[in-house]
Amino acid sequence: MAMPFNKLVIASSNQGKLKELQALLHALDIEVLPQSAFNVPEAEEPYVTFIENALTKARHASRHTGLPALADDSGICVNALQGAPGVHSARYAGEPRSDAHNNAKLLQSLEGQEDRHAHYYCVMVLVRHADDPQPLIAEGIWQGEILAEAKGEGGFGYDPLFLDAKTGQTAAELPAEIKNRISHRGHAMAKLLHQLERLA
Ligand code: IMP
Repeated sequence: MAMPFNKLVIASSNQGKLKELQALLHALDIEVLPQSAFNVPEAEEPYVTFIENALTKARHASRHTGLPALADDSGICVNALQGAPGVHSARYAGEPRSDAHNNAKLLQSLEGQEDRHAHYYCVMVLVRHADDPQPLIAEGIWQGEILAEAKGEGGFGYDPLFLDAKTGQTAAELPAEIKNRISHRGHAMAKLLHQLERLA
């Protein structure tokens, strides 16, 4: 696919996310660089919606690097917790950020709870420059449920607790290429690439 630019910075320092995004962008004929390659400081994420945080991160990375930037703001939303941890997923159990502590807190919050339904949500934003008035925006949702104990070694974050309703496997048990095909991030990226194709 012909692209309107040949370099893209990813506005994230989350290693799990970076790995998935780089795999999802692999087929594009462009150089994809993490923001750490430019020493971009972490952006503040003060907002209560994923989209506001994603836009802020993308603009921040683009402003620091002078390059087009892609941001993903994502999280897990649990029905019985009124959508929590939601935008606070990365820091659900506080600082310093820890997947193990977040997972332990989630299990504790759901103790004795029958409704285990949850979904992962991802919104992806691509800005061509820091003040781009027409950012590309796409979202993805992945439905599942929260198990009572962790299963699987792959993925990151809440993946060992997140059971995919269709395959009967946790996100941490699924091979990376399958997770990328069916996940919130995979769906958002497919839509974003479709938009890019129309631009190019
Ligand atoms: P963000 O970097 O502020 O968007 O926070 C994303 C957080 O949501 C991560 O740190 C994880 O806790 C959670 N999360 C998002 N996507 C995934 C996923 O694919 N697997 C596991 N956890 C995820």
